[in-house]
Amino acid sequence: MRSVVDEVIAQVFELCRHDTGGAVADYIPELASADPDRFGICVVTSQGHTYEIGDSTAEFTIQSISKPLTYAMALADRGPDAVAARVDVEPSGEPFNEISLDPITERPRNPMINAGAITMASMVGGRNVEERFERVLSAYSAFAGRRLRLDEQVYRSEARTGYRNRAIGYMLRSFDILGSEPDAALDLYFRQCSIALTCRDLGMMAATLANNGVNPLTRERVLAPALVERTLSVMTTCGMYDAAGAWVAEVGLPAKSGVGGGVLAVLPGQLGIAVFSPRLDAHGNSVRGVQACRELSRLLELHFMHVV
Ligand code: GLN
Repeated sequence: MRSVVDEVIAQVFELCRHDTGGAVADYIPELASADPDRFGICVVTSQGHTYEIGDSTAEFTIQSISKPLTYAMALADRGPDAVAARVDVEPSGEPFNEISLDPITERPRNPMINAGAITMASMVGGRNVEERFERVLSAYSAFAGRRLRLDEQVYRSEARTGYRNRAIGYMLRSFDILGSEPDAALDLYFRQCSIALTCRDLGMMAATLANNGVNPLTRERVLAPALVERTLSVMTTCGMYDAAGAWVAEVGLPAKSGVGGGVLAVLPGQLGIAVFSPRLDAHGNSVRGVQACRELSRLLELHFMHVV
């Protein structure tokens, strides 16, 4: 028998399916050639029950949805004070790739924009980039509950064309936000963005955050509760970039988007949501991803300010 959630995701899928607004990211050929019509929704409860529809097993790259995960790793590796000395937690109101620091603190405004994310990549522990990347890949895999892989082609393209991110990295170095060579932090950032996964993986990652840091299927503790709280807080205020205000008003869930077309949202203690649809709006957020989350929130009454 189909459950209420199955009915609702089918309804939302049908409602959003026809929206062909937006455009796929085209700054590298691998993203430009993505099938724009792909569309998947996956809802995973904090007990690990999975509901999915559409292209839930098609692979895409995690891109900026990596940012909260690496932020959490930096917090775990270096502690909140050391992290707070390098990055603020204020919404920037600017595009994700803005080449800017807060003029007063001279720090990146938050870890969800590229400047903050590259800074966080520099704080992941490990002796060299290989070891640090292996730690990142293992951590992301633990969130997903299966071993993920690097999309080598996307990584090579990101690294080859990442002039704007390099500009950000070198700016960070000149302000002593990065203590060492910017290239190592940039390389780790390019790699973390290029990790391939499916909507189902993303749903399980969201469910791990919803389950206070324990993967509901493997039962592995991936993140300490205090760090889950901190990560979800920053996702709430900064995860959807300069669209964060409208997102909180309309959807009301901590979330993160990526230019690969993924959106991850979390209702703490209850469930995780993942949507995959490659066409993006002007902020770099998936058009159908945002729309599907808005409808799911409305129909399932998920907004965190909603009082039953
Ligand atoms: N690789 C992309 C970049 O650094 C990620 C951005 C995103 O997903 N918003 O520009």
